[in-house]
Amino acid sequence: MSENLNPFAIAQAQLDEAAAILQLDEAMHQFLREPMREFHFTIPVRLDDGTTRSFRGFRVQYNDARGPGKGGIRFHPDETIDTVRALAAWMTWKTAVSDIPLGGAKGGVICDPREMSPGELERLSRGYMRRIAPYIGPTRDVPAPDVHTNPQIMAWMLDEYETLVNHHEPGVITGKPLALGGSQGRTPATAMGGLFTIRNAAELLDMSLNGTSCAIQGYGNVGSWAHRLGTEKFGLKVVAVSDEFGGIYNPHGLDPQVVSDHLWRTGKVADCPETENIANAELLELDVDILIPAAIENQLTANNAHKIRAKIVAELANGPTTPEADAILQDKGIYIIPDFLCNAGGVIVSYFEGVQNGYQYYWEEEMVNERLDRKISTAFEAVHNMAQNRQVPARVAAYLVAVTRVAEAVRLRGWV
Ligand code: NAD
Repeated sequence: MSENLNPFAIAQAQLDEAAAILQLDEAMHQFLREPMREFHFTIPVRLDDGTTRSFRGFRVQYNDARGPGKGGIRFHPDETIDTVRALAAWMTWKTAVSDIPLGGAKGGVICDPREMSPGELERLSRGYMRRIAPYIGPTRDVPAPDVHTNPQIMAWMLDEYETLVNHHEPGVITGKPLALGGSQGRTPATAMGGLFTIRNAAELLDMSLNGTSCAIQGYGNVGSWAHRLGTEKFGLKVVAVSDEFGGIYNPHGLDPQVVSDHLWRTGKVADCPETENIANAELLELDVDILIPAAIENQLTANNAHKIRAKIVAELANGPTTPEADAILQDKGIYIIPDFLCNAGGVIVSYFEGVQNGYQYYWEEEMVNERLDRKISTAFEAVHNMAQNRQVPARVAAYLVAVTRVAEAVRLRGWV
């Protein structure tokens, strides 16, 4: 039988496992299995050729018991409501495991931004904001970037919101450019946070990171920063990277500047000078110490998990490992840093961005990174301790920590 790759079914199954271990009462379990609120809408956009096309958009506010919703907006041709629901659920567990006073939400639009002009993208971004503006805000729900959305798109959305409400409100959205109230260190934050968790895992496994081989799948915001910071700040030897068009390999290590320049010129990492082209599937199966999936969901499956040779799998992407693959990797003794812990750096620094917007007082990058390290390392330790106490893998332990915190807030509010 083939695996069920519906991300929301996977997210619910993961919660079910945690609920059984925690002996969560049935009413609480059922409440936490579904989003509290969701919005579905169409966004008509005038295209450059004068025609109009309607795009389907979503915003899911999964749970806001611990604070305002928080979660990125994804522009992707394969976007589905179930993907957005899963990502919103994972945001709920991510903010809880990081112990920041926010809930979980997520947004998305079914579109292919690579086929759209900057003007069309701007009109889509503004149209999206007009649809969700009545339901968001710094004390309700705060969007941010995700796959195929970036600081420029956040800037257009911020401007649209401020035009509608007729005052400045930088805290309505995070991942903004610095000039509009963004935080130092936000763009590289997801990769930086992930590298802190890799350092913590390596310490547990008595591994040194200096010269340690690493492969990274996905070369967008997260993957490219993981390459640069992993090489420059942690001494990793990144031997392979890839994007949706294919991968590149050099056993002596890849220079992040050379790869970025090549990507800038050609739009893909393949055919980069002094490297050998490899397929995405080959990258995942390379004989490296650390594997970083930083692309999209369902990349490590029952079909390839038994071929993974890394000692640490650091899930910078959301949902890169299916449950069947997870079990296989556990059996092989691979240390998995689960997604909503590994990639929490983005939301932690988004939270810092919101705090700075509230105070109108901005921190230096060094302070942002120090505080990020403290926050994500505290979360890592809480998950590790839970894993030791309950004798469960890190992913299950992360759920136990997060679900306990969310359930406590729900109970204190008297909802269930
Ligand atoms: P992005 O759009 O900047 O980059 C995505 C990269 O993945 C691109 O290089 C794309 O070519 C590549 N890709 C897509 N499909 C692929 C495939 N099948 N095989 C190999 N490569 C493929 O997105 P991003 O912001 O870097 O996000 C990457 C992942 O990290 C996503 O799962 C996202 O949800 C997660 N994440 C992002 C943030 C953030 O702050 N940006 C925070 C937490 C988690």
